[in-house]
Amino acid sequence: MTAEHEKVWKNCLSLIKDNVNPQSFKTWFEPIKPLKVEDKNLTIQVPSQFFYEWLEEHYVTLLRKALDRELGVGSKLEYSIIVDNSNTNARNPHAYTINMPTRNAGYNNKNEVGIPLNVNANIHNPFIIPGLKKINIDSQLNPNYTFDNFIEGDCNRLARSAGFAVANKPGGTAFNPLMIFSSVGLGKTHLVHAIGNRIKEVSPNKSVLFVSSEKFVNQYVDSCKNGNNNDFLNFYQLLDVLIVDDVQFFAKKEKTQEIFFQIFNHLHQNGKQIILTSDRAPRDLKDVDERLLSRFKWGLSADLQVPDLETRISILEHKMYEDGIKLNAEVVEYVAHNIDSNIRELEGALISLLAQASLNRKDIDLDLAKKMVKNFVKNASREISIEYIQKLVSDYYSLSIEQLKSKTRKREIVQARQISMYFAKQLTKAPLKKIGMHFGGRDHSTVIHACQTVSDLMDTDRKFKSDVEEISKRIKINTF
Ligand code: ADP
Ligand code: MG
Repeated sequence: MTAEHEKVWKNCLSLIKDNVNPQSFKTWFEPIKPLKVEDKNLTIQVPSQFFYEWLEEHYVTLLRKALDRELGVGSKLEYSIIVDNSNTNARNPHAYTINMPTRNAGYNNKNEVGIPLNVNANIHNPFIIPGLKKINIDSQLNPNYTFDNFIEGDCNRLARSAGFAVANKPGGTAFNPLMIFSSVGLGKTHLVHAIGNRIKEVSPNKSVLFVSSEKFVNQYVDSCKNGNNNDFLNFYQLLDVLIVDDVQFFAKKEKTQEIFFQIFNHLHQNGKQIILTSDRAPRDLKDVDERLLSRFKWGLSADLQVPDLETRISILEHKMYEDGIKLNAEVVEYVAHNIDSNIRELEGALISLLAQASLNRKDIDLDLAKKMVKNFVKNASREISIEYIQKLVSDYYSLSIEQLKSKTRKREIVQARQISMYFAKQLTKAPLKKIGMHFGGRDHSTVIHACQTVSDLMDTDRKFKSDVEEISKRIKINTF
């Protein structure tokens, strides 16, 4: 028979699991042991003080929800912390009681890697706002995302400064709509929240609303079901600033596009500000009505790019500063160097590093960072694609991908092409035929020949070998 406390905790975990990403779940929740449940008090054991603080700081809302659901309102969570001294099994005699969140209530902390809590008690249904009083609109803005902590770099300069201009004069610049686009984890959501927060700061009376496209669609569908889509329309047309995140989600949803088109026109004509994000440029949005697309192009579209090493280091340093952590420069540089595609992953890596150091009671040094990067990437299990290999190899030899795929028989290009094929064979599951297709439609025997040539040259040509090893190192992050 399972003990009561184990049952309670197991149920809590299942809710938590749905609301945090797998990496964080593994890092922060798996090491927790339930100890006992008495009245409405659940006691859990955590591996260190640091763990306790981290949970309090980042997951208090979620824990609160889970606990209330299991034990009812008024339940308490107590922590038993394994004390960090000679007797590692000694329990801290002072149990900590969970605090109700005082800030960021209902928001996923930004360290949590971007999965919105769906147990959010603070999200108000826009339809039940009494009398549609502007002032009462809950902006749904995450106060953690500001301009101050949005680090500037070449990768985001245009978008950031356009955003700043809009924030200071919503509806009063040429950037209307302002469309921010990029692939995932590069700061779109952060930036648009920062704009919203800044507007609330500069013009507290403006009604600002942040909404994900997904939620917008759901609200609209509900309003149709409930026969109150006029209220829906009125509500949105009342806003001073409308921020819609991830509009690519509108693709193929014709009815939603239609209503959004109306809202867009109404707001725009009345000098209200519209801010949008998308995972691609407007011209690449598929299955979105032409009329709407042309509206998207009216203002300014600015993209966010992958930050360079220097910016990645600044971002890490800033995060460390915010969390009160000190790491030596070598470690920071190592992490920033190796995790290079996405800021969300970069933050995840830092968190993972802290957790491991805390769990193993070790200082964070380069060794630990190396292990973590290896693990982290394994957990993230990024698939290596042939395109990715082509990109790295062509970057290495300062060639274009077109050259790599071309028919040219220039020696250096042939060699780069063969090396790419060699890695494609080694590191992806693609069959020979498919690899050949990726290189301008060559056949499988060409690929076999390339692999053979590379192996042979590695045995005989030192310079060649060291080139291949260097490229391998660059791909390495993905090969564990
Ligand atoms: P997207 O919406 O493009 O997928 P997010 O806005 O969710 O990306 O950003 C992912 C994470 O990276 C967030 O935690 C965010 O705070 C952080 N981030 C992105 N860009 C920056 C930046 N320039 N400075 C600091 N943190 C950033
Ligand atoms: Mg986003």
